[in-house]
Amino acid sequence: MFENLAEKLEGVFKRLKGRGRLDEENVKEALKEIRMALLEADVNFKVVKDFIEDVRSRAVGQDVLDSITPGQQIVKIVHDRLVELLGGTSSQLKFGHRFPAPIMLVGLQGCGKTTTSVKLARVLAKSGKRVGLVSADVYRPAAMEQLRVMGEKIGAPVIRADSSQSPVKICVEAVEEAKRRGYEVLILDTAGRLHIDTEMMEELKQIKSAVNPSEILFVADAMTGQDAVNVAAKFNELLGIDGVIMTKMDGDARGGAALSLKAVIGKPLKYVGVGEKIDALEVFHPERMASRILG
Ligand code: GDP
Repeated sequence: MFENLAEKLEGVFKRLKGRGRLDEENVKEALKEIRMALLEADVNFKVVKDFIEDVRSRAVGQDVLDSITPGQQIVKIVHDRLVELLGGTSSQLKFGHRFPAPIMLVGLQGCGKTTTSVKLARVLAKSGKRVGLVSADVYRPAAMEQLRVMGEKIGAPVIRADSSQSPVKICVEAVEEAKRRGYEVLILDTAGRLHIDTEMMEELKQIKSAVNPSEILFVADAMTGQDAVNVAAKFNELLGIDGVIMTKMDGDARGGAALSLKAVIGKPLKYVGVGEKIDALEVFHPERMASRILG
């Protein structure tokens, strides 16, 4: 995760810190290299432009250049700006005051939605919540079965759904059942398609209005880079999302999607998937991630 970017920035900062004094020309040169590193990491072009402009305006002030450690100060400016880019502080899930709080996971097929539903159920159960799961993917009985098997493995109850019913009915009835069973959270794993289509969005909108979820989380595959950001933006525009879970971060050495997301769609990254195993889901901490990138 972010290995390529971290390596490139390390070189830039080493050179900056190695100089006793810095002038505007040195800063310009370093910013050019940072810009390249971000673009190579597949960060959105406009996001990179704003980032560099912002760092430039903070870095060329005389206070920085005249200080005893100008290189270190610039590293600090990049660090702070990176934290902002990643969303500032970590974003908690909202549960509201209803039982159960429905959490709807949406996204394209293969993005890791079913795996992430179970991972999230595990994380929430570990924090002391009574969590249930349900699959509304009536188009792929195998996906429903996958959720049942994975849920069973971690001891999270999966509410049985009849694939001959409509996804909306399945979700509404699962909420009722979860209420009877006293669950605090119900995770709804919805159907994914290969592409966004009107029918898919219509179905998701109907589920949203029928169950009024506390959170709609878009599950994005980090490996698809800027496509993940574009699809998230489309889901946000058509359905409205509360945040994003980015999966397969373990296989993505660039990290451009994670770095662009908040600036492009204005919604936070809440969790990251870092492996195929069921415990490989982490709360996303912008500060920690920035420190990891900058070493
Ligand atoms: P869905 O079609 O969106 O429900 O996707 P699945 O949950 O079936 O996941 C598709 C594939 O991605 C599976 O092989 C998962 O093991 C894999 N996967 C999901 N999340 C991660 C992750 O964070 N890291 C890695 N390496 N693989 C993941």
